[in-house]
Amino acid sequence: MSTPLLAVHGLNVSYAVRRRKLHALSDVSLDVEAGETLGVVGESGSGKSTLARAILRLIQVTSGQIHWRGSDWLQHSVRALRPLRRDVQIVFQDPFASLDPRMTLGAAVAEPLHVFRPELTASEREHEVARVLERVGLGAALMNRYPHEFSGGQCQRVAIARAIIVKPRLLVCDEPVSALDVSIQAQIVNLLRDLQAELGMSMIFISHNLAVVRRISDRALVLYLGRTMELATRDALFKSPRHPYTRALLDSVPAPIIRARRDAARLVASEMPAPLDPPSGCVFHTRCPFAIGRCRQEVPQLEVAGAGQQVACHRWRDLAGGD
Ligand code: SF4
Repeated sequence: MSTPLLAVHGLNVSYAVRRRKLHALSDVSLDVEAGETLGVVGESGSGKSTLARAILRLIQVTSGQIHWRGSDWLQHSVRALRPLRRDVQIVFQDPFASLDPRMTLGAAVAEPLHVFRPELTASEREHEVARVLERVGLGAALMNRYPHEFSGGQCQRVAIARAIIVKPRLLVCDEPVSALDVSIQAQIVNLLRDLQAELGMSMIFISHNLAVVRRISDRALVLYLGRTMELATRDALFKSPRHPYTRALLDSVPAPIIRARRDAARLVASEMPAPLDPPSGCVFHTRCPFAIGRCRQEVPQLEVAGAGQQVACHRWRDLAGGD
C-alpha cells in the first residue's frame, strides 16, 4: 500500500478558555492521497478551520500525529518546516483579508517566489507571475493594480494564484467561496478543479455547503463539535449517508440536489451546543431524534459501515434498515 501524502491520526486540539478546557478537535483521523480532494463539512463551530490550521501548524496541536509523505510533521521545528511549507499552501475565506492592501497584485503573487525560489531573476519572476495571473483568469496587465480595485471573486483568484505559483502538492481551501456571490462561487470551484487536474495536486476543501463539496470532493469528512461523525467516499456519503447528522446536513441542501427529509432539516435549524460545554456521550445526542440512553453515556467510535465509509453512531445499523 502506498504512503498517503498526508496522514493525520488521533489529532486533539484544546485551549484554555476562562479556566476551562475547550476541545476544538477530539481524536480526528484522516488521510489524503496524492491527487485526491477531501471535503471537510460541518456547521460553524464544528472544528473545520481548526483542523486546517492544525494541519498547517498555524496553531498548537495538543496531541496526535501528522505525517507528511511519511515523515512526522510535528517533530520538525517551525524553522525546519520552512522549506516544506512550499508543498502545502492555503487559500482563506476572506480574499481581501488575505491580501496586503499596500501590495500590487504582481508583488503579492511574486512574494512566495522570493521565499521558495530565490534563484529566479527579476524577469523570470515577472514572467511566472504573468503566466499564473493569466491562468487564474486575470490578465497580466493587472499586475500593477491594488486589491481595493477588484471584486471579491477577482481577489480570490489572486489568492489562488499566490498559492499555486509554487506548485504545492496540497492546497488547503478554507471556505474559499463562502464570502463570494453565488454566481461567482461556481467559477471559483471550477477553477480549483481545473488547477487540481493540471497540477496533479491534492486538496482539502473545507465548506459548510454540501452541494459545493459534492462537486469537488472524492471523499468527505463530516465534523460536529470537533469530532468525526462520518468519513466516506462522495458516492457513499451522498447516496447512503449513515450518520443522522450527515442526513440532516444533506437535507438542508435545497431539492432537487438532495431529496428532502423535513424532520432532519429542522434538526439542523436548532442550535449547536456550546463547544465549552459539549454533551456527554455522543456529542450529537441533544439534537438527534434517534438518541437512546446509551447515546447520552457512551462516545460512539468510528466504525466501518460499508465500502469506503466509516461512521460514529451507535445506531447506524438500525437506521440503515430503510435504505
Ligand atoms: Fe444519534 Fe445516538 Fe447515533 Fe449519536 S449515537 S447520532 S445520538 S443515534
